Amino acid sequence: MSLIVQKFGGSSVADAESIKRVAKRVVETRKAGHEVVVVVSAMGDTTDELLDLAKEIVPIPAGRELDMLLTAGERISMALLAMAIRSLGMEARSYTGSQAGLITDAQYGSARIVDVTPGRVRDALDAGAIAIVAGFQGFNRGTGDITTLGRGGSDTTAVALAAALGADICEIYTDVDGVFTADPRVVPKARKIDRISSEEMLELAAAGAKVLYIRAVEYARRHGVTLHVRSSFNNSEGTYVVTSNEEQNVEEPIISGVAADLSEAKITVVGVPDVPGKAAEIFTIVAKTGANIDMIVQNVSAAATGKTDISFTLPKSEAQTAMTALNAEKASVKFDSLQHDDQIGKLAVVGAGMRTNAGVSARLFRALSEAGINIEMISTSEIRISVVTRADTVNEAVRVVHRAFDLDGEDEAKVYAGTGR
Ligand code: ADP
Ligand code: ASP
Ligand code: MG
Repeated sequence: MSLIVQKFGGSSVADAESIKRVAKRVVETRKAGHEVVVVVSAMGDTTDELLDLAKEIVPIPAGRELDMLLTAGERISMALLAMAIRSLGMEARSYTGSQAGLITDAQYGSARIVDVTPGRVRDALDAGAIAIVAGFQGFNRGTGDITTLGRGGSDTTAVALAAALGADICEIYTDVDGVFTADPRVVPKARKIDRISSEEMLELAAAGAKVLYIRAVEYARRHGVTLHVRSSFNNSEGTYVVTSNEEQNVEEPIISGVAADLSEAKITVVGVPDVPGKAAEIFTIVAKTGANIDMIVQNVSAAATGKTDISFTLPKSEAQTAMTALNAEKASVKFDSLQHDDQIGKLAVVGAGMRTNAGVSARLFRALSEAGINIEMISTSEIRISVVTRADTVNEAVRVVHRAFDLDGEDEAKVYAGTGR
């Protein structure tokens, strides 16, 4: 008998029919003799709808109340799924994040898990029941408040429970057959990857492949949890995310996948005096706002003026706060002006084989230039190259690059549900 954690994303529990379908699948696993813990997301696009609703009330809702609101989404699905399982004659008990022992820090909206005490979940399993846990949420002991783990956070809930309970596997059920070489909604010829190293998966997730949430991949890697990403619409094998050690003897593809991200904005600080210490001043101001800076580019300074421009990217949602903070220090830093651009897209190619293969960037840049796509910023890591383009060209860029690296497959990738929102 093994212990299996099964996480079902929003598209897999979008309506009553889907919930009944998921219930059958969970019951089959239980009847096969396994202990089953299920983590559910909110139904369909519920989280987005609740966010929209809150914004109709007030443009920037209080973090505490927003978390209270959003966690309701997952509570709806957990209760409905427990009812569906009971109606199939199996015992099921649903738990909120706090009841399941997901203890977090106090950061509303993007809380980090600091402890997992799944005593009640363990008791339910010992009593022969299926435990259903609401994803994406936790509880802070200091404030006594409910928190959320950030968008896509149900993946993290599943991994954290798998680690704490010593599960044999953590299955992430979604609306595609696994992790593909690119988002199948953007590249129909994308191919399913059977096994991917956690290192590459981390880079893909960080670059916008939302099929797995980056924090979940990090957590799984740290705690040695094996992830299996698969479709909830069939029984096919999906993608196993394995640790690099297991992967050692496999020849690594040069490029494993291409990802795109439309969630970032670019800020340009224009006319910064080109003297030592200015970058430190600017990024200290931005860091104090808590912004997560991604790429940074500094232009060569114009000889006539001795001034330079510094551009950086960060999540769109953090750009306004960073702009305000910088403007407040304009006189002391002595820059000329600020520009804000939220029409950028970021494309990344990821592959561990890049380490030992020259010419990857040349091939990437050639493919983009042949398609007439302009590159605005470039950054690289050991196994990733990212470029910023105009937002409305990034999907085409992904298709072009996917083809240029010979990743196109024979068949069309299937997307079973979801709105891609
Ligand atoms: P869930 O509701 O199950 O959490 P998500 O919408 O969060 O599902 O993630 C699944 C979606 O991720 C897919 O429908 C697909 O459009 C998108 N996606 C982006 N990049 C990839 C990729 N490389 N492989 C598979 N899916 C991807
Ligand atoms: N419902 C949350 C979201 O839409 C969490 C999740 O689905 O993982 O982001
Ligand atoms: Mg998700």
